[in-house]
Amino acid sequence: MHYGFHVSISGQQGLAGAVIEAELLGLSAIQIFAKSPRSWKLRGLKPGELEGFRARRENLGGLPTVIHASYLVNLGAGGDLWDKSVFSLADDLAKAQALGAEYVVVHPGSGDWQRAREGALKARELAKVGKSKNGPRLLLENTAGGGEKLGNRLETLLELIEGTPLGLCFDTCHAFAAGYPIHQDPQGVIGQLDAIIGLANLPVIHLNDSVGEFGSGVDHHAGLLEGEIGVGLRTFITDERLHDKVVILETRRSTHEDAHNLRVLREWLEDADSR
Ligand SMILES: [Zn+2]
Ligand SMILES: [Zn+2]
Repeated sequence: MHYGFHVSISGQQGLAGAVIEAELLGLSAIQIFAKSPRSWKLRGLKPGELEGFRARRENLGGLPTVIHASYLVNLGAGGDLWDKSVFSLADDLAKAQALGAEYVVVHPGSGDWQRAREGALKARELAKVGKSKNGPRLLLENTAGGGEKLGNRLETLLELIEGTPLGLCFDTCHAFAAGYPIHQDPQGVIGQLDAIIGLANLPVIHLNDSVGEFGSGVDHHAGLLEGEIGVGLRTFITDERLHDKVVILETRRSTHEDAHNLRVLREWLEDADSR
């Protein structure tokens, strides 16, 4: 299992800084924003930045990399917002292609699910990812629900990706808040994921505990063992069926919190390995 944090590229070293951080912390995967997640502004690459990123990554023998799309993107919206969203997502896909990042994750947004599906496919087309065999895979992330948000039910997510090259990124906090009982029946939830989406269509997991209660619809991440899901997450993530997934912790970052979350996750994985 590859695992790591969502790391920053805003430091002096830019993209390479994300890989340096991964190396320091002993991570085997990372997630990044390829541009500011709360602005429409694109971020150009500095000279040598791409080469620096690729070279450092290669030195590590590869480092599965996920790019998380901007929070402003709403593929289910109409008009100008849809256009901007598709363009922004296409930019992330093109970046992923250039960097060799394996996955791009986007929230489906709110509004019309057919438009959301069309938007995701259009972004792929604009970025020409279908053309190359090693292009990034675009994944839609399940949401906690609330408002008109699409994607809190697995059935809706299936409608969004069925018959397309799109896949799913499964966020445990969002699923729990949307009413999937990871605290009580983690294995049953995996069974549902497999039955409805198919585990092969789910290469990335966001491993977060939840501040919000079960079924609350609240998207608020907690550290491992510090939220409402608790040890259910351990059973979930150490299940044999998920052993080949890329796992990203989107927990709050600080030296102290990082140490806690990494220690807990490593203990879980080591115990599972020795069973
Ligand atoms: Zn997300
Ligand atoms: Zn997430």
